[in-house]
Amino acid sequence: MVQTKKKGPMQAQIFTFVIPAMALIFAIVLGAMWWQRRDQLHILAYSYCFGSMAAGVVINIWIMGAIGPIGLVGYHILSMSGIIAMMWGASRRAGQDIPLLAYSATVVVACILLGIAGSVGDIPTMKLVQNTSSGLLVALAAQNLWHAEKRHLADRALVWVLALFSGFGLVRPVLTDLAAVLFGDGEQGMAMLTSLHALIMTVMITLMALCLISSVIADNMAEQREKAAIDVLSGLRIRHAFESEAELTAEKARVEKVPLSLIVADIDHFKRVNDKWGHPKGDAVIEGFGDLISRTLRDQDIAGRLGGEEFGILVWDCPLDSAAILAERLREKLPEIDVTTRGKKLGCTASFGVTDWRGDEEYLSVFKRADAALYKAKNAGRDQVFAAQDKASFPLELPGDALNNVIPIPRQQ
Ligand code: GH3
Ligand code: MG
Ligand code: MG
Repeated sequence: MVQTKKKGPMQAQIFTFVIPAMALIFAIVLGAMWWQRRDQLHILAYSYCFGSMAAGVVINIWIMGAIGPIGLVGYHILSMSGIIAMMWGASRRAGQDIPLLAYSATVVVACILLGIAGSVGDIPTMKLVQNTSSGLLVALAAQNLWHAEKRHLADRALVWVLALFSGFGLVRPVLTDLAAVLFGDGEQGMAMLTSLHALIMTVMITLMALCLISSVIADNMAEQREKAAIDVLSGLRIRHAFESEAELTAEKARVEKVPLSLIVADIDHFKRVNDKWGHPKGDAVIEGFGDLISRTLRDQDIAGRLGGEEFGILVWDCPLDSAAILAERLREKLPEIDVTTRGKKLGCTASFGVTDWRGDEEYLSVFKRADAALYKAKNAGRDQVFAAQDKASFPLELPGDALNNVIPIPRQQ
Protein backbone atom coordinates (compact mmCIF):
# COMPACT_ATOMS: atom_id res chain seq x y z
CA MET A 1 0.00 0.00 0.00
CA VAL A 2 1.13 3.54 -0.62
CA GLN A 3 3.06 5.52 1.95
CA THR A 4 2.40 9.20 2.26
CA LYS A 5 4.70 11.25 0.05
CA LYS A 6 4.84 14.28 2.33
CA LYS A 7 7.82 13.96 4.60
CA GLY A 8 7.54 14.63 8.32
CA PRO A 9 10.37 15.20 10.81
CA MET A 10 13.11 12.63 11.34
CA GLN A 11 11.30 10.59 14.07
CA ALA A 12 8.34 9.98 11.81
CA GLN A 13 10.65 8.96 8.95
CA ILE A 14 12.53 6.51 11.17
CA PHE A 15 9.21 5.06 12.28
CA THR A 16 8.34 4.50 8.60
CA PHE A 17 11.54 2.45 8.10
CA VAL A 18 10.31 -0.04 10.69
CA ILE A 19 7.82 -1.42 8.13
CA PRO A 20 10.33 -2.63 5.49
CA ALA A 21 12.67 -3.89 8.22
CA MET A 22 9.91 -5.99 9.79
CA ALA A 23 8.60 -7.19 6.44
CA LEU A 24 12.14 -8.27 5.55
CA ILE A 25 12.55 -10.15 8.83
CA PHE A 26 9.24 -11.97 8.25
CA ALA A 27 10.31 -12.76 4.66
CA ILE A 28 13.55 -14.27 5.97
CA VAL A 29 11.80 -16.24 8.74
CA LEU A 30 9.26 -17.66 6.28
CA GLY A 31 12.01 -18.31 3.72
CA ALA A 32 13.91 -20.31 6.33
CA MET A 33 10.73 -22.22 7.22
CA TRP A 34 10.22 -23.04 3.55
CA TRP A 35 13.84 -24.22 3.28
CA GLN A 36 13.05 -26.84 5.94
CA ARG A 37 9.94 -27.94 4.02
CA ARG A 38 10.67 -27.33 0.34
CA ASP A 39 7.63 -29.35 -0.76
CA GLN A 40 5.35 -26.71 0.80
CA LEU A 41 5.39 -24.03 -1.87
CA HIS A 42 2.78 -21.92 -0.09
CA ILE A 43 5.40 -21.00 2.56
CA LEU A 44 7.68 -19.68 -0.20
CA ALA A 45 4.75 -17.64 -1.53
CA TYR A 46 4.25 -16.11 1.96
CA SER A 47 7.96 -15.28 2.10
CA TYR A 48 7.78 -13.62 -1.32
CA CYS A 49 4.78 -11.58 -0.15
CA PHE A 50 6.74 -10.04 2.73
CA GLY A 51 9.87 -9.66 0.57
CA SER A 52 7.94 -7.72 -2.06
CA MET A 53 6.29 -5.69 0.69
CA ALA A 54 9.72 -4.69 2.06
CA ALA A 55 11.00 -3.82 -1.44
CA GLY A 56 7.79 -1.90 -2.24
CA VAL A 57 7.97 0.26 0.86
CA VAL A 58 11.69 1.00 0.29
CA ILE A 59 10.94 2.09 -3.30
CA ASN A 60 8.04 4.16 -2.00
CA ILE A 61 10.17 5.99 0.57
CA TRP A 62 13.38 6.55 -1.39
CA ILE A 63 12.86 6.56 -5.11
CA MET A 64 9.15 6.98 -5.75
CA GLY A 65 9.57 10.60 -6.84
CA ALA A 66 12.12 9.68 -9.51
CA ILE A 67 10.60 6.63 -11.21
CA GLY A 68 8.01 8.13 -13.62
CA PRO A 69 4.73 6.53 -14.78
CA ILE A 70 6.27 3.27 -16.11
CA GLY A 71 8.29 2.79 -12.95
CA LEU A 72 5.14 3.50 -10.95
CA VAL A 73 3.22 0.79 -12.78
CA GLY A 74 6.17 -1.60 -12.24
CA TYR A 75 6.15 -0.74 -8.54
CA HIS A 76 2.43 -1.39 -8.32
CA ILE A 77 2.77 -4.74 -10.11
CA LEU A 78 5.46 -5.69 -7.56
CA SER A 79 3.19 -4.78 -4.62
CA MET A 80 0.21 -6.60 -6.09
CA SER A 81 2.26 -9.68 -6.98
CA GLY A 82 3.09 -9.99 -3.28
CA ILE A 83 -0.57 -9.90 -2.31
CA ILE A 84 -1.45 -12.39 -5.06
CA ALA A 85 1.39 -14.71 -3.95
CA MET A 86 0.09 -14.65 -0.38
CA MET A 87 -3.46 -15.35 -1.57
CA TRP A 88 -2.24 -18.12 -3.84
CA GLY A 89 -0.34 -19.70 -0.96
CA ALA A 90 -3.18 -19.43 1.54
CA SER A 91 -5.74 -20.74 -0.96
CA ARG A 92 -3.47 -23.59 -2.08
CA ARG A 93 -2.94 -24.67 1.50
CA ALA A 94 -6.69 -24.53 2.14
CA GLY A 95 -7.35 -26.55 -1.03
CA GLN A 96 -9.30 -23.68 -2.60
CA ASP A 97 -9.32 -22.64 -6.25
CA ILE A 98 -7.97 -19.15 -6.82
CA PRO A 99 -10.13 -16.74 -8.89
CA LEU A 100 -7.07 -15.74 -10.91
CA LEU A 101 -9.17 -14.05 -13.60
CA ALA A 102 -10.69 -11.61 -11.08
CA TYR A 103 -7.25 -10.94 -9.59
CA SER A 104 -5.58 -10.37 -12.96
CA ALA A 105 -8.42 -8.09 -14.10
CA THR A 106 -8.00 -5.99 -10.92
CA VAL A 107 -4.24 -5.67 -11.54
CA VAL A 108 -4.61 -4.80 -15.25
CA VAL A 109 -7.31 -2.16 -14.67
CA ALA A 110 -5.33 -0.66 -11.77
CA CYS A 111 -2.14 -0.50 -13.86
CA ILE A 112 -3.89 1.22 -16.79
CA LEU A 113 -5.47 3.82 -14.49
CA LEU A 114 -2.20 4.29 -12.63
CA GLY A 115 -0.26 4.74 -15.88
CA ILE A 116 -2.72 7.42 -17.04
CA ALA A 117 -2.78 9.22 -13.66
CA GLY A 118 1.04 9.00 -13.44
CA SER A 119 1.59 10.42 -16.92
CA VAL A 120 -0.46 13.53 -16.06
CA GLY A 121 1.09 13.78 -12.58
CA ASP A 122 -2.26 13.44 -10.78
CA ILE A 123 -0.94 12.30 -7.40
CA PRO A 124 -4.30 12.08 -5.50
CA THR A 125 -5.75 9.80 -8.23
CA MET A 126 -2.58 7.67 -8.21
CA LYS A 127 -2.88 7.19 -4.46
CA LEU A 128 -6.57 6.44 -4.77
CA VAL A 129 -5.99 3.80 -7.48
CA GLN A 130 -3.13 2.16 -5.59
CA ASN A 131 -4.95 1.97 -2.27
CA THR A 132 -8.29 0.96 -3.75
CA SER A 133 -6.89 -1.79 -5.96
CA SER A 134 -4.69 -3.22 -3.17
CA GLY A 135 -7.64 -3.05 -0.76
CA LEU A 136 -9.91 -4.73 -3.30
CA LEU A 137 -7.41 -7.52 -3.93
CA VAL A 138 -7.00 -8.22 -0.22
CA ALA A 139 -10.80 -8.14 0.17
CA LEU A 140 -11.07 -10.80 -2.56
CA ALA A 141 -8.50 -12.90 -0.67
CA ALA A 142 -10.44 -12.58 2.60
CA GLN A 143 -13.67 -13.47 0.82
CA ASN A 144 -12.02 -16.51 -0.80
CA LEU A 145 -10.53 -17.77 2.48
CA TRP A 146 -13.81 -17.17 4.28
CA HIS A 147 -15.21 -20.21 2.49
CA ALA A 148 -12.10 -22.37 2.86
CA GLU A 149 -11.74 -25.08 5.49
CA LYS A 150 -10.30 -23.48 8.62
CA ARG A 151 -8.04 -25.91 10.39
CA HIS A 152 -6.63 -23.71 13.12
CA LEU A 153 -7.41 -20.54 15.01
CA ALA A 154 -4.70 -18.87 12.88
CA ASP A 155 -6.77 -19.53 9.72
CA ARG A 156 -9.79 -17.77 11.17
CA ALA A 157 -7.64 -14.92 12.45
CA LEU A 158 -6.04 -14.49 9.00
CA VAL A 159 -9.45 -13.91 7.38
CA TRP A 160 -10.17 -11.10 9.87
CA VAL A 161 -6.72 -9.55 9.53
CA LEU A 162 -7.08 -9.54 5.74
CA ALA A 163 -10.53 -7.96 6.08
CA LEU A 164 -9.02 -5.23 8.31
CA PHE A 165 -6.08 -4.79 5.92
CA SER A 166 -8.41 -4.39 2.99
CA GLY A 167 -10.67 -2.01 4.91
CA PHE A 168 -7.66 0.12 5.77
CA GLY A 169 -6.55 0.24 2.12
CA LEU A 170 -10.02 1.30 1.01
CA VAL A 171 -10.61 4.00 3.65
CA ARG A 172 -7.02 5.24 3.77
CA PRO A 173 -7.46 8.16 1.32
CA VAL A 174 -10.48 9.34 3.36
CA LEU A 175 -8.54 8.95 6.61
CA THR A 176 -5.67 10.96 5.15
CA ASP A 177 -8.00 13.86 4.31
CA LEU A 178 -9.67 13.59 7.70
CA ALA A 179 -6.30 13.66 9.47
CA ALA A 180 -5.27 16.72 7.45
CA VAL A 181 -8.40 18.49 8.73
CA LEU A 182 -7.86 17.32 12.32
CA PHE A 183 -4.07 17.74 12.66
CA GLY A 184 -3.56 20.48 10.08
CA ASP A 185 -1.56 20.35 6.87
CA GLY A 186 1.67 21.60 8.43
CA GLU A 187 4.81 19.64 9.25
CA GLN A 188 3.55 18.59 12.67
CA GLY A 189 0.26 17.31 11.26
CA MET A 190 2.03 15.38 8.50
CA ALA A 191 4.41 13.83 11.04
CA MET A 192 1.41 12.64 13.09
CA LEU A 193 -0.20 11.21 9.99
CA THR A 194 2.96 9.44 8.81
CA SER A 195 3.50 7.94 12.25
CA LEU A 196 -0.13 6.85 12.51
CA HIS A 197 -0.04 5.17 9.07
CA ALA A 198 3.24 3.50 9.91
CA LEU A 199 1.86 2.26 13.23
CA ILE A 200 -1.31 0.83 11.67
CA MET A 201 0.68 -0.82 8.87
CA THR A 202 3.22 -2.26 11.33
CA VAL A 203 0.47 -3.77 13.48
CA MET A 204 -1.32 -5.24 10.47
CA ILE A 205 1.82 -6.65 8.84
CA THR A 206 2.80 -8.20 12.18
CA LEU A 207 -0.65 -9.72 12.67
CA MET A 208 -0.64 -11.07 9.13
CA ALA A 209 2.83 -12.57 9.56
CA LEU A 210 1.89 -14.08 12.93
CA CYS A 211 -1.21 -15.71 11.42
CA LEU A 212 0.76 -17.15 8.50
CA ILE A 213 3.71 -18.29 10.63
CA SER A 214 1.35 -19.84 13.20
CA SER A 215 -0.53 -21.70 10.50
CA VAL A 216 2.74 -23.13 9.14
CA ILE A 217 3.85 -24.18 12.64
CA ALA A 218 0.41 -25.66 13.44
CA ASP A 219 0.43 -27.62 10.16
CA ASN A 220 3.87 -29.02 10.89
CA MET A 221 2.91 -29.97 14.43
CA ALA A 222 -0.23 -31.72 13.20
CA GLU A 223 1.85 -33.58 10.62
CA GLN A 224 4.37 -34.65 13.26
CA ARG A 225 1.55 -35.80 15.52
CA GLU A 226 0.02 -37.80 12.68
CA LYS A 227 3.39 -39.36 11.84
CA ALA A 228 4.03 -40.28 15.48
CA ALA A 229 0.62 -41.97 15.63
CA ILE A 230 1.45 -44.33 12.74
CA ASP A 231 3.27 -47.63 13.15
CA VAL A 232 5.93 -47.73 10.43
CA LEU A 233 5.75 -51.47 9.82
CA SER A 234 2.01 -52.00 9.40
CA GLY A 235 1.13 -48.44 8.32
CA LEU A 236 -1.72 -48.53 10.89
CA ARG A 237 -2.14 -46.48 14.08
CA ILE A 238 -0.07 -47.29 17.13
CA ARG A 239 -1.99 -48.70 20.10
CA HIS A 240 -2.40 -45.43 22.00
CA ALA A 241 -3.61 -43.50 18.93
CA PHE A 242 -6.01 -46.34 18.07
CA GLU A 243 -7.49 -46.41 21.56
CA SER A 244 -7.91 -42.64 21.80
CA GLU A 245 -9.53 -42.45 18.40
CA ALA A 246 -11.75 -45.42 19.23
CA GLU A 247 -13.05 -43.58 22.34
CA LEU A 248 -13.73 -40.44 20.29
CA THR A 249 -15.48 -42.44 17.57
CA ALA A 250 -17.61 -44.24 20.16
CA GLU A 251 -18.70 -40.87 21.55
CA LYS A 252 -19.66 -39.73 18.05
CA ALA A 253 -21.48 -43.02 17.38
CA ARG A 254 -23.48 -42.59 20.60
CA VAL A 255 -24.59 -39.10 19.56
CA GLU A 256 -25.41 -40.14 16.00
CA LYS A 257 -26.89 -43.48 17.13
CA VAL A 258 -24.68 -45.46 14.79
CA PRO A 259 -23.71 -49.10 15.54
CA LEU A 260 -20.01 -49.83 16.07
CA SER A 261 -18.12 -53.11 16.21
CA LEU A 262 -14.62 -54.06 17.27
CA ILE A 263 -12.51 -56.76 15.64
CA VAL A 264 -9.33 -58.00 17.29
CA ALA A 265 -6.97 -60.19 15.23
CA ASP A 266 -3.82 -62.10 16.14
CA ILE A 267 -1.54 -63.88 13.67
CA ASP A 268 -1.31 -67.60 14.36
CA HIS A 269 1.95 -69.24 15.42
CA PHE A 270 3.87 -66.14 14.55
CA LYS A 271 6.79 -67.16 16.73
CA ARG A 272 7.23 -70.17 14.45
CA VAL A 273 7.28 -67.89 11.39
CA ASN A 274 10.11 -65.90 12.94
CA ASP A 275 11.97 -68.98 14.10
CA LYS A 276 11.65 -70.81 10.80
CA TRP A 277 11.97 -68.01 8.24
CA GLY A 278 13.64 -65.24 10.16
CA HIS A 279 12.54 -61.92 11.60
CA PRO A 280 12.51 -60.00 8.27
CA LYS A 281 9.93 -62.46 6.89
CA GLY A 282 7.87 -62.00 10.06
CA ASP A 283 8.07 -58.25 9.52
CA ALA A 284 6.91 -58.69 5.92
CA VAL A 285 3.83 -60.59 7.19
CA ILE A 286 2.97 -57.75 9.59
CA GLU A 287 3.42 -55.27 6.75
CA GLY A 288 1.26 -57.38 4.40
CA PHE A 289 -1.50 -57.81 6.98
CA GLY A 290 -1.48 -54.06 7.69
CA ASP A 291 -1.76 -53.38 3.98
CA LEU A 292 -4.61 -55.89 3.59
CA ILE A 293 -6.52 -54.25 6.45
CA SER A 294 -5.98 -50.74 5.01
CA ARG A 295 -7.18 -51.84 1.57
CA THR A 296 -10.26 -53.58 2.96
CA LEU A 297 -11.55 -50.88 5.30
CA ARG A 298 -13.62 -47.80 4.50
CA ASP A 299 -12.47 -44.28 5.33
CA GLN A 300 -14.59 -44.07 8.49
CA ASP A 301 -13.21 -47.32 9.96
CA ILE A 302 -10.20 -47.20 12.26
CA ALA A 303 -7.39 -49.75 12.45
CA GLY A 304 -4.35 -50.07 14.66
CA ARG A 305 -1.50 -52.42 15.54
CA LEU A 306 -2.09 -53.14 19.20
CA GLY A 307 1.34 -54.67 19.69
CA GLY A 308 3.48 -57.51 18.23
CA GLU A 309 1.23 -59.38 15.80
CA GLU A 310 -2.09 -58.23 17.22
CA PHE A 311 -4.42 -55.80 15.42
CA GLY A 312 -7.60 -53.91 16.26
CA ILE A 313 -10.27 -52.67 13.87
CA LEU A 314 -13.17 -50.41 14.83
CA VAL A 315 -15.87 -50.68 12.20
CA TRP A 316 -18.13 -47.64 11.82
CA ASP A 317 -21.87 -48.03 11.24
CA CYS A 318 -21.58 -51.79 11.39
CA PRO A 319 -23.57 -54.26 13.54
CA LEU A 320 -21.93 -57.39 14.92
CA ASP A 321 -22.95 -59.80 12.15
CA SER A 322 -21.59 -57.54 9.36
CA ALA A 323 -18.36 -57.01 11.31
CA ALA A 324 -18.00 -60.77 11.67
CA ILE A 325 -18.39 -61.14 7.91
CA LEU A 326 -15.71 -58.47 7.38
CA ALA A 327 -13.39 -60.36 9.74
CA GLU A 328 -14.11 -63.56 7.85
CA ARG A 329 -13.14 -61.82 4.59
CA LEU A 330 -9.83 -60.70 6.12
CA ARG A 331 -9.20 -64.20 7.48
CA GLU A 332 -9.70 -65.67 4.03
CA LYS A 333 -7.40 -63.18 2.33
CA LEU A 334 -4.50 -63.21 4.79
CA PRO A 335 -2.86 -66.43 3.47
CA GLU A 336 -2.87 -64.87 -0.02
CA ILE A 337 -0.68 -61.87 0.85
CA ASP A 338 2.48 -61.68 -1.16
CA VAL A 339 5.07 -63.00 1.29
CA THR A 340 6.93 -65.92 -0.25
CA THR A 341 9.71 -68.33 0.67
CA ARG A 342 11.32 -70.64 -1.87
CA GLY A 343 8.83 -69.46 -4.48
CA LYS A 344 5.79 -70.38 -2.36
CA LYS A 345 3.42 -68.22 -0.41
CA LEU A 346 4.01 -68.39 3.31
CA GLY A 347 0.26 -68.77 3.88
CA CYS A 348 0.06 -67.25 7.36
CA THR A 349 -3.29 -67.36 9.13
CA ALA A 350 -4.85 -65.33 11.93
CA SER A 351 -7.59 -65.74 14.53
CA PHE A 352 -10.27 -63.10 15.07
CA GLY A 353 -12.53 -62.00 17.92
CA VAL A 354 -15.47 -59.70 17.15
CA THR A 355 -17.91 -57.85 19.35
CA ASP A 356 -20.29 -54.88 19.22
CA TRP A 357 -19.88 -51.65 21.21
CA ARG A 358 -22.81 -51.49 23.60
CA GLY A 359 -24.24 -48.20 24.88
CA ASP A 360 -22.00 -46.28 27.27
CA GLU A 361 -19.29 -48.94 27.47
CA GLU A 362 -15.63 -47.98 27.84
CA TYR A 363 -13.12 -49.14 25.24
CA LEU A 364 -11.44 -51.52 27.68
CA SER A 365 -14.61 -53.45 28.39
CA VAL A 366 -15.37 -53.84 24.65
CA PHE A 367 -11.76 -54.85 24.00
CA LYS A 368 -11.81 -57.48 26.76
CA ARG A 369 -14.90 -59.10 25.22
CA ALA A 370 -13.40 -59.14 21.71
CA ASP A 371 -10.10 -60.45 23.11
CA ALA A 372 -11.90 -63.23 24.98
CA ALA A 373 -13.60 -64.21 21.71
CA LEU A 374 -10.19 -64.16 19.97
CA TYR A 375 -8.73 -66.55 22.54
CA LYS A 376 -11.69 -68.86 22.13
CA ALA A 377 -10.90 -68.84 18.40
CA LYS A 378 -7.27 -69.71 19.24
CA ASN A 379 -8.31 -72.53 21.54
CA ALA A 380 -10.74 -73.87 18.97
CA GLY A 381 -7.84 -74.48 16.54
CA ARG A 382 -6.91 -70.98 15.20
CA ASP A 383 -7.60 -69.56 11.71
CA GLN A 384 -11.20 -68.70 12.56
CA VAL A 385 -13.53 -65.89 13.57
CA PHE A 386 -15.44 -65.90 16.87
CA ALA A 387 -18.10 -63.36 17.78
CA ALA A 388 -18.96 -62.34 21.35
CA GLN A 389 -22.73 -62.26 21.18
CA ASP A 390 -25.28 -60.74 23.50
CA LYS A 391 -28.30 -62.82 22.63
CA ALA A 392 -30.77 -60.68 24.51
CA SER A 393 -29.96 -57.51 22.67
CA PHE A 394 -28.38 -58.83 19.53
CA PRO A 395 -29.60 -62.10 18.07
CA LEU A 396 -27.10 -63.27 15.51
CA GLU A 397 -28.64 -65.66 13.07
CA LEU A 398 -25.51 -67.69 12.58
CA PRO A 399 -25.14 -71.44 13.06
CA GLY A 400 -22.63 -72.93 15.45
CA ASP A 401 -22.49 -73.76 19.11
CA ALA A 402 -22.76 -70.85 21.48
CA LEU A 403 -19.85 -71.12 23.87
CA ASN A 404 -20.51 -68.80 26.79
CA ASN A 405 -22.16 -66.42 24.37
CA VAL A 406 -19.21 -66.66 22.00
CA ILE A 407 -19.98 -68.39 18.75
CA PRO A 408 -17.79 -69.32 15.82
CA ILE A 409 -18.60 -67.58 12.55
CA PRO A 410 -19.15 -70.08 9.73
CA ARG A 411 -16.60 -69.89 6.93
CA GLN A 412 -17.84 -68.37 3.73
CA GLN A 413 -18.14 -70.86 0.90
P1 GH3 B 1 -0.49 -67.75 18.78
O1 GH3 B 1 -0.99 -68.47 17.59
O2 GH3 B 1 -0.97 -68.37 20.03
O3 GH3 B 1 -0.80 -66.32 18.74
O4 GH3 B 1 1.08 -67.94 18.79
P2 GH3 B 1 2.17 -66.88 18.42
O5 GH3 B 1 3.43 -67.60 18.17
O6 GH3 B 1 1.68 -66.02 17.30
O7 GH3 B 1 2.20 -65.97 19.70
P3 GH3 B 1 3.37 -65.61 20.68
O8 GH3 B 1 2.79 -64.55 21.58
O9 GH3 B 1 3.93 -66.83 21.35
O10 GH3 B 1 4.49 -64.99 19.77
C1 GH3 B 1 4.38 -63.76 19.16
C2 GH3 B 1 5.68 -63.49 18.48
O11 GH3 B 1 5.61 -62.28 17.70
C3 GH3 B 1 6.84 -63.31 19.43
C4 GH3 B 1 7.56 -62.08 18.93
O12 GH3 B 1 8.93 -62.34 18.76
C5 GH3 B 1 6.94 -61.81 17.58
N1 GH3 B 1 6.92 -60.40 17.25
C6 GH3 B 1 6.40 -59.39 17.96
N2 GH3 B 1 6.59 -58.22 17.30
C7 GH3 B 1 7.24 -58.51 16.15
C8 GH3 B 1 7.72 -57.72 15.06
O13 GH3 B 1 7.56 -56.49 15.01
N3 GH3 B 1 8.32 -58.36 14.04
C9 GH3 B 1 8.50 -59.72 14.04
N4 GH3 B 1 9.10 -60.27 13.01
N5 GH3 B 1 8.07 -60.46 15.06
C10 GH3 B 1 7.45 -59.89 16.11
MG1 MG C 1 -0.04 -64.79 17.58
MG1 MG D 1 -0.11 -62.12 20.13
